[in-house]
Amino acid sequence: MARLSQATAIYKAIMMTSDKDRLEQLVAAARRDSDARDQGYREQALKMYPHICGRCGREFDRHNLRELTVHHRDHNHDNNPADGSNWELLCLYCHDNEHQRQLEANNGSSVTAEGGSKPATFSPFAGLRSLQDKQNRD
Ligand SMILES: [Zn+2]
Ligand SMILES: [Zn+2]
Repeated sequence: MARLSQATAIYKAIMMTSDKDRLEQLVAAARRDSDARDQGYREQALKMYPHICGRCGREFDRHNLRELTVHHRDHNHDNNPADGSNWELLCLYCHDNEHQRQLEANNGSSVTAEGGSKPATFSPFAGLRSLQDKQNRD
C-alpha cells in the first residue's frame, strides 16, 4: 500500500513536472516565434520597400533606420502576407498619427452613426497603389 501511494506520488510529480516543463517550453517557443516573426516581417518589409516614410516622405539610412517602422494596414500584426500588401513603412511620427487617426475614426463612427448609415469606406490600398505606380515609373 505504501509502495503504491509512493508510486502514485512519483507519477503525479512526473506529470506535474512534465506539464510544467511542457508549458514553459510552449511559452518559450511562442515567445521565440513571435520575436522571430516580428523580426521577420520588419526585415522583409525593409527589403521590399524603399526606406522612405509612406506619409511624409522622409528618407532613412542605416543610421536612423530604427525610426522607420512597419505599419500594418489592417492593424493586424498577425496578418503578414509574403507579398507585403499589408505593410507600410512609416516614420515614428506618421505611424503614431496613423494609429491616432484610426482610433478617432473608430470612435467617430460609433458615436456619429445615425439611422444605420455606413461609415465612409476606408481604402487601405490607395496609398500602396500610388507607391507602386511611382516605383513602376522610376
Ligand atoms: Zn513620416
Ligand atoms: Zn501600425
